[in-house]
Amino acid sequence: MLSLDKLYPQLSSAEKMGLLDDLNNIYGSLPQTSCERCGTCCTVPPPAYIVEYLNMFRYMKENLGDRIPEIVEKAIRFYFLELVDINLRCPFLGEDKLCMVYPARPLSCRGYGLSRSDSVFLSPRNEMEELARRYKEQHGITLPEEVVKFNLPECGSVKIIGEKKVSTDLLELAISYVARLESQLFPVDLVDKELTFVPYVTHLALTVISEGARIRRPRVMKEYLEKGSSDMLEGFVEKARAVQL
Ligand code: SF4
Ligand code: SF4
Repeated sequence: MLSLDKLYPQLSSAEKMGLLDDLNNIYGSLPQTSCERCGTCCTVPPPAYIVEYLNMFRYMKENLGDRIPEIVEKAIRFYFLELVDINLRCPFLGEDKLCMVYPARPLSCRGYGLSRSDSVFLSPRNEMEELARRYKEQHGITLPEEVVKFNLPECGSVKIIGEKKVSTDLLELAISYVARLESQLFPVDLVDKELTFVPYVTHLALTVISEGARIRRPRVMKEYLEKGSSDMLEGFVEKARAVQL
């Protein structure tokens, strides 16, 4: 994850190396799509590489000005509570069900509705039962059944606009190109093990509240499950309000 002090130097390196231009060219190789904008797929934001996060962060800074504090607050709440509250949605999803970072959304969001059901684009939570077992064993937390059993439905509403064609092979090739860009920023073994491949929300939340928040996550989840709120979470949100991005 990128801490705040490393974020801007990394962004500037990625720009100088032309990685964000390359990334946007990869995005541009995929067809434009339309859909019914129900927002269901934004229940479980899929993973994104850090180079994609940098691109999204730049977009957010340049375009979303006044909305950034609200997005950051939602990202922090989502980061802590996504495994205990099924009603949360990706913090970048607007009230109008439009993605606020649509031109900079990651490849895994672009691939949704265009890919096979066993693809990385669709299966961010395919190990939920195992995760639930570990939370129970290590932290005494029972994850709610509706979270554990939630399966993102395949979407049949995505329509391709224009002449470009798409195939799962093309999508998987595109993601391997993005992984190659990531390898210019981080050691290849980290990239191969997908350690830099997590949802935008997690990237953003951990930039703002720092990596150390990870160890507090189970405590926040427990408090929330027991009381319906968490003082510790409110403390993180309060601290985040003081952070200048
Ligand atoms: S891609 Fe499908 S699930 Fe996602 S918002 Fe569009 S219609 Fe809904
Ligand atoms: S980044 Fe946009 S498209 Fe992707 S999950 Fe969030 S709101 Fe949905």
